[in-house]
Amino acid sequence: MIGAGVHGASVAFHLASRGVPTVVIERTSPAGGPTGRSSAIVRAYYTNAFLAGVARDSIAMFRDFEQHTGRDSGFRETGLLVLHPPEDEAMVREVVPRLTEQGIPTDLLEPQQVVAEWPAFDLDGIAIAAFERDAGYADPVLTTQGLLERARELGAEIRLGHGVTAIDRDGSGWTVSTDDASVAAERVLIAAGPWTATLAAMVGVDLPLTVERHIVATFAWGDDARVPAHGDLPNGYYFRPEGDDLFLMGPLHPEPTVDPDAFDERVGAD
Ligand SMILES: Cc1cc2nc3c(=O)[nH]c(=O)nc-3n(C[C@H](O)[C@H](O)[C@H](O)COP(=O)(O)OP(=O)(O)OC[C@H]3O[C@@H](n4cnc5c(N)ncnc54)[C@H](O)[C@@H]3O)c2cc1C
Repeated sequence: MIGAGVHGASVAFHLASRGVPTVVIERTSPAGGPTGRSSAIVRAYYTNAFLAGVARDSIAMFRDFEQHTGRDSGFRETGLLVLHPPEDEAMVREVVPRLTEQGIPTDLLEPQQVVAEWPAFDLDGIAIAAFERDAGYADPVLTTQGLLERARELGAEIRLGHGVTAIDRDGSGWTVSTDDASVAAERVLIAAGPWTATLAAMVGVDLPLTVERHIVATFAWGDDARVPAHGDLPNGYYFRPEGDDLFLMGPLHPEPTVDPDAFDERVGAD
């Protein structure tokens, strides 16, 4: 396994749970890449039925995280409100009952119902809304560490602080090398986030991946009435509480591509 973000940690946990000998190689530390900066909203409100189903099962895992790993993932069930423009209305009316049938309890809300519940919203341009009751957010670092530590207890080997520098064919398997060691593996999973394309190129695979910078800004609540975790599709942002005193926001629109090893990590005034 290359990479100990949330995906590498999760796969290591599931493999180790099934008794598959697993080695995780991570260049920095668990959740040291984008995972550690994630807004970590956990939701199953997807129009694609397969994606919605796996997300529903993931929410169940977050709910029982302590039972699975013996640790806390920081999961908080807040629900998630999604505000839609008029052009989405027919799709939302079709998807919401389908999700509820799939075991993802979701309420269809007319704008006047949203304002009755949360008067602080200005719903100009909003035609319909959906509220997914079981959605929430987790702590991405605790989640990754919890999965990885449980994987280690179940027999996985975790190697931190050295990045993979080469992946070579070795008979029917592979040799994965870092600057200080090499590991023989039957199969290799590259879960290296924005660095994946570079690693895939080492085995001659050209993946058409690009890397985007995404801004997340955290604010203290003022005296205004509070609103729930929500995504505002026409206005292009998402929002969720961060503990009791703060909330965070991020844009939904595409961002410029960047070099994952050299980009501005500050939030500018604009
Ligand atoms: C700002 C932001 C907000 C987000 N918000 C949400 C959200 O609300 N909900 C949601 O579901 N998703 C969200 N996401 C997406 C989600 O966080 C990512 O999909 C997820 O964290 C990716 O995890 P990963 O394990 O695939 O990759 P990463 O977190 O990128 O981990 C890859 C790991 O590979 C390691 N690595 C790289 N190169 C090498 C090498 N050569 N050798 C060894 N190790 C290497 C890195 O150090 C890193 O630790 C957000 C992402 C960002 C950036």
